[in-house]
Amino acid sequence: TAPYPTAPTADPLTVLREIYGYSEFRGKQGAVVEQVVSGGDAVVLFPTGAGKSLCYQLPALCRSGVGVVISPLIALMRDQVEALKQLGVRAGALNSSLSQEDFIATRRALARRELDLLYVTPERVATPGFTEMMRDLDIALFAIDEAHCVSQWGHDFRPEYRALDRLAEAFPGVPRMALTATADPHTREDIIERLALQNAAVFTTSFDRPNITYEIVEREQPRRQLLDFLARHKGESGIVYCLSRAKVEETAEWLNTQGIHALAYHAGMARETRDAHQDAFLKEDELCLVATVAFGMGIDKPDVRYVAHLDLPGSVEAYYQETGRAGRDGLPAEAWMVYGMADVTQRGRMIDRNAAADEVKRVERAKLNALLGICETADCRRQAILAHFGEQHDGHCGNCDTCLSPVETWDGTEAAIKAMAAIYRTGERFGAGHVIDVLTGNATERTERFGHDTMPVFGAGKDIARKTWQSVYRQLLAKGLIRVDHDAFGALKLEPGARAVFRHEQSLRFRVDRTPKGKASTGTRR
Ligand code: ADP
Ligand code: ZN
Repeated sequence: TAPYPTAPTADPLTVLREIYGYSEFRGKQGAVVEQVVSGGDAVVLFPTGAGKSLCYQLPALCRSGVGVVISPLIALMRDQVEALKQLGVRAGALNSSLSQEDFIATRRALARRELDLLYVTPERVATPGFTEMMRDLDIALFAIDEAHCVSQWGHDFRPEYRALDRLAEAFPGVPRMALTATADPHTREDIIERLALQNAAVFTTSFDRPNITYEIVEREQPRRQLLDFLARHKGESGIVYCLSRAKVEETAEWLNTQGIHALAYHAGMARETRDAHQDAFLKEDELCLVATVAFGMGIDKPDVRYVAHLDLPGSVEAYYQETGRAGRDGLPAEAWMVYGMADVTQRGRMIDRNAAADEVKRVERAKLNALLGICETADCRRQAILAHFGEQHDGHCGNCDTCLSPVETWDGTEAAIKAMAAIYRTGERFGAGHVIDVLTGNATERTERFGHDTMPVFGAGKDIARKTWQSVYRQLLAKGLIRVDHDAFGALKLEPGARAVFRHEQSLRFRVDRTPKGKASTGTRR
């Protein structure tokens, strides 16, 4: 195929049809392309599979000069460059995996202005040589892929992303785009601030993945439960996530003894084995890949039919990303997780033992709580997940376990009112621990110091166990009625929706906690 002659006047729709062979833009792709082609900055928050690549590739082809794509994933770069070359687009990459020859060839093509798209790692952008190399070139745009890596709040912080804030100054007038499939409001703000994208147009689309069925079950006999789950997926491929490398290996080995073709994948394995297992996963029709979170980013396998978690992910963002690898082809897929109190204690301990600063610990605890809220919700899981990303959903999706088989609940309206009154009366300045002390009438140095022990709300909730109050707060978080303010040391704050509950305009039902032995306990202490 002949190289496509790019001209500043090229019409996006024509390029879409002639180069890619697609008839129409999908969703907001067209709007993003228009914004960038006309020289504006853009923040693109689309879920996995929505078609983010086109959002920067097309403007790069329609504007003069080379489009620079910054991506942390060398494997993904290679795939994209190959795919683009197949389409006749002049694409190249500069990264540490290239041979000396290829490296020189790409640099030469760049200097001769024979590249439409150049993929580089953030490390390279941070080198002084990069600015020098690019200085005299015509640059169509900078696209910062996986932009959530700039945020410490995100699940995949990469320090080298911080250096990307220099692009704005070093290359004024060149449009910049940040793209990610992670879009909780906190990460979003971080991206805009850290990458100096205050003037960018922000494009979001629903994060709902309607073809994914969500199920979160209580851990009883996890291996047995996993086998039962996998029995629903005979002849299909999927991923089983575990927290530790040891557990990955044990689980894969054990699955094979149970007649399930499983392979392990984690960062501690030899490179060749890892690559071989990844290739097998991409090619074979029936394979269970047991992996740590080291696996998955940038993997484009459309027919992953299930994602199972044997351990809690690190955050809601991570859960969403990891489960989002299922069903990219739009056909039914399942996201399944076993979870128990042990996970919660273990994770809490890991956070506490971590030598990190208090601020980091608070963020980690808040992330854990948000995820627990989703685990414990008695309402639609999809609604809870989407609420975390600032998106409204009516609930009753009919495609999650709580919708398909409703859980036992108790009327928590009065408890919720007390719980939120305690937040309000103490000035929305305290975390759950202190507020529960106030509610349960647990006098501490702090309740005394702030005079909270003399308030009417002090002890107003002592008929309910502390553990249940914790669950109430997690469920209020999950329902979006309160939020954790990370800029105020994890203080709980009321959200506008709380008002309807105070006025008795909305009643709330909470999930009945089940003890590990399967005995249910209601909100009231006996
Ligand atoms: P993301 O990066 O958002 O996860 P990709 O850019 O990998 O998504 O795109 C996902 C899939 O959708 C790819 O196979 C891509 O070719 C396809 N795709 C993207 N845009 C369109 C379109 N306008 N029409 C048809 N298919 C599209
Ligand atoms: Zn649902």
